[in-house]
Amino acid sequence: MADGTVKQTNPFTGTQVWTVPGRAHRPIDHSPGVVTAVDPTAPEAHCTFCSARLRETTPEKARVVRDGDTWRVLEEVAPDSLDATTPEFRLLANLFEIVSLDYWKSVHGYHIPARAAAHQAAYLGTPAGAEHVRALVRARIAAAQGDPADVDAMGPADLAAQSESFFGGCHDVVVARRHLTDGATTSDRHASSGDLTPAEHEQYIAFTARAMRALYRDNAYARYVSVFQNWLAPAGASFAHLHKQLVAIDEIPAKTSHEVTALGSDPELYNRLGVDHAASEQLVVAANEHAVAVVGVGHRYPALVVYSRSAASAPWDHSTAELRGVSDLLHACHAATGRLVPCNEEWHTRPPGLGGRAMPWRIVLKWRISTPAGFEGATGIYVNTIDPWSLRDRVLPRLIELRAAGLIADVAVGTECGDVRGSLRYGR
Ligand SMILES: [Zn+2]
Repeated sequence: MADGTVKQTNPFTGTQVWTVPGRAHRPIDHSPGVVTAVDPTAPEAHCTFCSARLRETTPEKARVVRDGDTWRVLEEVAPDSLDATTPEFRLLANLFEIVSLDYWKSVHGYHIPARAAAHQAAYLGTPAGAEHVRALVRARIAAAQGDPADVDAMGPADLAAQSESFFGGCHDVVVARRHLTDGATTSDRHASSGDLTPAEHEQYIAFTARAMRALYRDNAYARYVSVFQNWLAPAGASFAHLHKQLVAIDEIPAKTSHEVTALGSDPELYNRLGVDHAASEQLVVAANEHAVAVVGVGHRYPALVVYSRSAASAPWDHSTAELRGVSDLLHACHAATGRLVPCNEEWHTRPPGLGGRAMPWRIVLKWRISTPAGFEGATGIYVNTIDPWSLRDRVLPRLIELRAAGLIADVAVGTECGDVRGSLRYGR
């Protein structure tokens, strides 16, 4: 508009977003609150996801361990072996599920898989495992204002019934090793996705994709598995400790169904409205052989979007090189965002059962730097403080700096990306 207001419409959803001029350069970093000194040599014990407090989370379904450049997944580590290796990433059940195991059991007649039942029996069969589980059941009952004393009187059958969701529930968490960056001496140096090395980030993404596949495998009633990451409290994180969540749900989200329908008449939807549109608006920020990162248009918050260029739809069907390509761009976007900006990472993937219809894996990174209020509720128009080109201009120089410093992978940035139009190969 004549005064510099930018009115955007999301090409996929129709969401209206207005950016008002003059606010794009405000500082956006989240205040870390009270900062205290930290001993960088002490084991981390800042929150229940920290490595010195392994028994305050539900029993691990799996962990990733590292030996130099070799990474391995260890399944169902026994309670007396938890400290025998250092987990780089851990997969475990969310103690407070969004969609509970009770929901799956009572609505769908779901039974936890035999493998999960065997894990539970083995875990509860050891004194250390039973005590770990009992403490968690106590914590959950206390959080629900119940009487934790009841837990002490529970026999093995009750304890097993109360802890079934720890082993066979359908809401998982992937927790990274660090709370603070290595060597941090103050409590505000929270280690974000961008603080991982590109190799660590690849393992994080691969391990999450593997867990996503397992949720589909184990729950025949799961129509969709939502994968997301909330970073810092304004983005919905309970702890400032890096983690992703995976939630199985029994419906395909309406927004996904809408895109499935649109794809029927426009198979090139994601090329046309995703990368081609971004290219025509000069909003491509980075690319490599296997993925493209662009500034998203018409999102409620400033957003970067990473599109996989793979012919495969599911993350776990990507080759190692393709997955690394997606991971490298996502990591670069996180690093350019910085650890002080609250953000949501949202995976968008093809729901199973669409026949041959393909969809590219795409990941939206949203900067949660404003709070929608009455205006947004009343009008459905979202006011955003950074327009797409200003977001691009914030991100590009940081990417170049980070690349020069060797902190992100060697990706093409800005105009180096060349012509990316039509480069998403999904279904081809
Ligand atoms: Zn922590």
